[in-house]
Amino acid sequence: MAKRDHYEILGVDRSADEKEIKRAYRKLAMKYHPDRNPDDVDAENKFKEASEAYEVLADASKRRAYDQFGHASVDGQAGGGFGGGGASFSDIFGDVFGDIFGGGGRGRSSRGSDLRYTLELDLEEAVRGTTVKIRVPGHVECDACDGSGAEKGSRPETCGTCGGMGQVRMQQGFFTVQQTCPTCRGSGKVIKNPCKKCHGAGRVEEEKTLSVKVPPGVDTGDRIRLSGEGEMGADGGPPGDLYVQISVREHAIFTRDGRNLYCEVPISIVDAALGGELEVPTLDGRVKLKIPPESQTGKMFRLRGKGVAPVRGGGPGDLLCRVVVETPVNLTKRQKELLEEFQQTLDGSNGNNHAPKKTSWFEGVKSFFDEMKF
Ligand SMILES: [Zn+2]
Ligand SMILES: [Zn+2]
Repeated sequence: MAKRDHYEILGVDRSADEKEIKRAYRKLAMKYHPDRNPDDVDAENKFKEASEAYEVLADASKRRAYDQFGHASVDGQAGGGFGGGGASFSDIFGDVFGDIFGGGGRGRSSRGSDLRYTLELDLEEAVRGTTVKIRVPGHVECDACDGSGAEKGSRPETCGTCGGMGQVRMQQGFFTVQQTCPTCRGSGKVIKNPCKKCHGAGRVEEEKTLSVKVPPGVDTGDRIRLSGEGEMGADGGPPGDLYVQISVREHAIFTRDGRNLYCEVPISIVDAALGGELEVPTLDGRVKLKIPPESQTGKMFRLRGKGVAPVRGGGPGDLLCRVVVETPVNLTKRQKELLEEFQQTLDGSNGNNHAPKKTSWFEGVKSFFDEMKF
């Protein structure tokens, strides 16, 4: 699916400044936020799309790269591991909205960050599908305190300052301002006796191994979402998602373009002239390819159904083999003699045009010089 332009998504001019971009994103995010549109896939997609656009356009260097190179600048970063420095959706969220969502009466409970992992695959793996184990950094609930953050035998207590609300009201002149509680920093709880293992955090860092099932037919740029495998949420909030971004390595023989595969097949001048049969590789074994007589360099042969069945459905495409006639090298004296003899037979058979391309080319050159009157 072609990606829409980030500016178009946010409905702003290419010259829009930071404020305009923020305002536009905020409007869209308020409209499409999943909390306001439960179970609405379309709204969720619009929300993600807007968030992605904002992620790029709000960052000056990403925006510059995007203006110059388009989507290619931000997508499909090569190399294994995590795409560097990308703000996650929840980071952006905090930045733009502060406490509008996820705050309030729920204390500091917030959804965990989404993570992105770039998974490099060989073409064969991408075409056939595979299951890979990946290791991702993350947090798990502390088992010493069952995530409460309080040492065994004690429990977190309700904060006395805010009465567990996480927020306090302050009088400032005429206004009453609601602020995050300074005692519990918004969690609504205080831990008098913090757990020794997690120091009161309720979670510990732990690398986890995940099994990712890659469906057959994926290509560079495809994403697999592992729901709930992102960062752990804070204070009981839901975890984020993990996005596995596919990046397919270059293949020694095949180049993929959508559902079709391309490859180049060198053939000898003899096979090219007289015709012959070659074995060519496909992703599921060798097949015979008949080369008709008088085949020229560049001729394409189509092997139907030997391409790739894309992950989004539809049958497999074709394998297109482009033949390249190879000039023989390292000739023996005898072989050279034979070729010279062969050349004489060509010169001798006047009227039989053995090289129509060459003939018409020389005629073209001749008339070019005639017209130039050298
Ligand atoms: Zn603990
Ligand atoms: Zn408090």
